[in-house]
Amino acid sequence: MRYVGPVYRPPSEADSYLLQVTIGCSHNECTYCAMYRHKDFAARPLPEVLADVEAAGRAYPETRRVFLMDGDAMTLATSRLVPVLDALGRAFPALARVGSYVNAISVLRKSDAELASLRERKLSIGYLGLETGDPVTAARIVKGATVEEEVEAVRRAQAAGLKMSVMVLLGVAGRARWREHAEATADALSRMDPRFVSCLCVTPVPGTPFAAEVERGDVVLPSPEETLDELRVIVERVRLSGAVFRANHASNWLPIGGRLPSDRDRLLATIDAARRGEVPLVPEEWRGL
Ligand code: SF4
Repeated sequence: MRYVGPVYRPPSEADSYLLQVTIGCSHNECTYCAMYRHKDFAARPLPEVLADVEAAGRAYPETRRVFLMDGDAMTLATSRLVPVLDALGRAFPALARVGSYVNAISVLRKSDAELASLRERKLSIGYLGLETGDPVTAARIVKGATVEEEVEAVRRAQAAGLKMSVMVLLGVAGRARWREHAEATADALSRMDPRFVSCLCVTPVPGTPFAAEVERGDVVLPSPEETLDELRVIVERVRLSGAVFRANHASNWLPIGGRLPSDRDRLLATIDAARRGEVPLVPEEWRGL
């Protein structure tokens, strides 16, 4: 398989065939993100992508899951995505699902009919980084979409039949706005009502504007215990009709997970026990960052 530069995928796509259809991220300005900073955004030439799919079909015909990379495959025109998805269907007879990171603006640029035609071709899960529901924080971290646009994008993708997995960044608002961040994030998630929610802890990556803000003291990161307070507000306040809720990424100080709303009391009890010091947090040196 041919890849340009380092590639990234969500943990749940560990067993998927990774197909690079774009290089980099069409936005590439979120202040905390270092993933594609060194890559100029470009669409990979279609013949090259189709040749990769054919080769993968010969090598791994049993493939059931495919993840489209890099940062936002959905930014490609539907007329460009359709031949790729059709080729995947031909190459992998048992294909069950195709996933991609999605950017809210790219989703909103597509019509309902376009979203439905992608879903018919098995594009069935999208991973969207909400990060925060607080408009002030969203503007500060240069998300490139308003909270309203993020909510609408998730709702429209879900209406077309895609399952949406939404990511949230604990600590990204710093100590100064932690409560506004937590409450507004819970409210935005409630309006999105996605099938999957993942809470990660923000990590200042050297070389990013966010790391520079932390270094200057413009943003003061919460302590591990304070990130639990944020998590608690989100878990207590969010209203979801039925979602898998995870805060067990390598960046989390207290790995927890369950279903919401059914596991709310258990999740809150675990957070409270950790806050009282009865459940140990992950030691700094064990965090897989
Ligand atoms: S949209 Fe995603 S990949 Fe692109 S800069 Fe922001 S966080 Fe990074």
